[in-house]
Amino acid sequence: MNFQCKNCGGNMIFAPAKQKMYCPYCDGEDTERVAGNDSLTVCASCGGEVDPGEYKSSDKCPYCGNYLIFDKRVSDNYKPDSIIPFKLDKDMAVASMDKEFKKRLFAPISFLSEKSLESMKGAYVPFFLYDYLAESVYRGEGTKVRSWRSGDYTYTETSYYDVEREMHASFDNIPVDASFEMPDSTMDLMEPYDYTDLMSFDPKYLSGFFGEIYNDTADKFADRAKKKAADSAETLMKKSIGAYSSLKTVVDQTTLTDRKIDYALFPVWVYKYKYAGKDYNFYVNGQTGKVIGKTPVSKLKVVIYSIVSTLLFYGGIEAVLGIVEGVLK
Ligand SMILES: [Zn+2]
Ligand SMILES: [Zn+2]
Repeated sequence: MNFQCKNCGGNMIFAPAKQKMYCPYCDGEDTERVAGNDSLTVCASCGGEVDPGEYKSSDKCPYCGNYLIFDKRVSDNYKPDSIIPFKLDKDMAVASMDKEFKKRLFAPISFLSEKSLESMKGAYVPFFLYDYLAESVYRGEGTKVRSWRSGDYTYTETSYYDVEREMHASFDNIPVDASFEMPDSTMDLMEPYDYTDLMSFDPKYLSGFFGEIYNDTADKFADRAKKKAADSAETLMKKSIGAYSSLKTVVDQTTLTDRKIDYALFPVWVYKYKYAGKDYNFYVNGQTGKVIGKTPVSKLKVVIYSIVSTLLFYGGIEAVLGIVEGVLK
């Protein structure tokens, strides 16, 4: 399918800044109608042949430039339970990147000016959201030691405690990306997403963006969610135990029970830069603007920075400026 403007027939896209469907040809808002077919290989607009790949759920037709959505990949088993629609449009995402690059103290000056943006695209990344009930039991032997002086003597008092805790915690919507292409650690760093924007799925949100279906079933990605739940349970448990002078653990056990798994799509802007023959990928959370990605590090800048900070520490600001100028020449 694709979304056509009722007024002019143009391809309508979802506009993040307006949170509405928008026609770039006649400025129409929410004037869309669904057009097309349920083919995986024929563009609903121009009839050209398109390549759905293994996982694409929405794409841009290489012939007519219109955005199309593959019906079969947003329905039945592939219908997402929910979606966080893009909140940042292209300009806002670019502004987030510029702000981030200004903060990167150690990036070579030439990276900031000479990097070339090879591509930038808005993509909906498939996520599974796992709910778990965590039941934890802890038993240990703790001591608290207190000492004080009185006259010529130091007294030490050791109190012994049986530490016992039982905890029931429920974790809702632990996100794990279900895309092989997206690096896991990067996707984890994109968190947190704000779930108050989680909407019922509607294919119109995909128009104007690239989309992917989950690359494998939810049980294949569950270990990552379980680890996140177990780590959080451990943190909660530690907090509830508090501080002892010494603590010997006898039992420390957490059992996780599956409760519910949802399939959701989250928005990410993906940037590919080229610099000095190497590729650099950056990712911007399409909801919050959080930027993840590594810039190259300039050795010279690190050296200058450490000279500056050392000298500033000793208070010689004029000398510092002189040295920096000298190094930069
Ligand atoms: Zn129009
Ligand atoms: Zn087309």
